[in-house]
Amino acid sequence: MKMDITIIELSQRVLGLALDEEAGELIHDELNKKGVKIKTGRTVKEILGNDKNEVRGVILDNGEEMPCELVVMAIGVRPNIEIVKDTDIKVNRGITVDSRMETSVKDIYAGGDVVEAYDFINKDNRILAILPLAFEQGRVAGSNMAGRERVYAGGMGLNSFPLFGTAIMTMGITLTKEGDSLEVMKKKGKDAYKKLVFRDNVLVGVIMIKDTNYGGIYTSLITKQVKLTDAEKKTLLDGNLLDFEAYRESATPWRSMNWVMQRPIKEHVIGVR
Ligand SMILES: Cc1cc2nc3c(=O)[nH]c(=O)nc-3n(C[C@H](O)[C@H](O)[C@H](O)COP(=O)(O)OP(=O)(O)OC[C@H]3O[C@@H](n4cnc5c(N)ncnc54)[C@H](O)[C@@H]3O)c2cc1C
Repeated sequence: MKMDITIIELSQRVLGLALDEEAGELIHDELNKKGVKIKTGRTVKEILGNDKNEVRGVILDNGEEMPCELVVMAIGVRPNIEIVKDTDIKVNRGITVDSRMETSVKDIYAGGDVVEAYDFINKDNRILAILPLAFEQGRVAGSNMAGRERVYAGGMGLNSFPLFGTAIMTMGITLTKEGDSLEVMKKKGKDAYKKLVFRDNVLVGVIMIKDTNYGGIYTSLITKQVKLTDAEKKTLLDGNLLDFEAYRESATPWRSMNWVMQRPIKEHVIGVR
């Protein structure tokens, strides 16, 4: 729209919870190429208005004043838990639930962005505010409410979106550091990047920039916790997945993620050898 845009970002890179340093650099380059300026390590302290009550600028935390005509705020997801305030329903950052999506009060269930539900990769409960998980949690909650026992197998963080035409896809654990016992494989091109993260030879995280082919296969391998050989891991990185043995033998691509996720993890862990 030919607008003059500046992103003010508190952390050291945009999308800092999903992208690692290398992916962040690529995205910063891409944004810069499109004329978007980025100021990292900064936040907006104050929004300034004129006498017609219109925005005329912002003041940053270092005192810098920037003129502007429009402010868009997008600083993450915080559940609106007003509805359960002053009740016995336990709340952490979101409403806490058990594996049946029941809250701490009997016969009261919750699901979706408002809850902290099980994350099967990080093995804890947290807010994962995405639609497929909200749908599945609602299904489990509704089923239990109607008297049919169902367990929520857990979910993982997933992002997939285009940024000025550059495809970005992330899933599971994407941020790694030395000594965290995760194995990392990377492939970097001029403006493309792929990072695969393994724990005990099981794929637990992916970053893909530009080439997002086979996203469904990666998701399936993570969800089913398929044990991989070194050769299979290398095949995963090189992208020649059409004859990928582990996938062929274990995956059922015509069944949806929801089918996989409604089963407890232990039921769909599939050995390939
Ligand atoms: C800009 C944006 C982009 C997104 N893009 C994606 C995406 O690409 N992929 C993806 O998977 N997810 C995406 N999401 C997240 C997705 O929209 C949510 O995960 C999903 O909508 C959560 O469903 P939910 O039912 O938990 O909550 P919601 O869809 O928020 O529904 C909650 C409903 O409850 C109503 N409500 C609130 N309080 C009360 C009350 N006291 N009484 C009665 N009703 C009440 C609200 O009005 C609302 O209609 C996006 C979200 C946003 C905001």
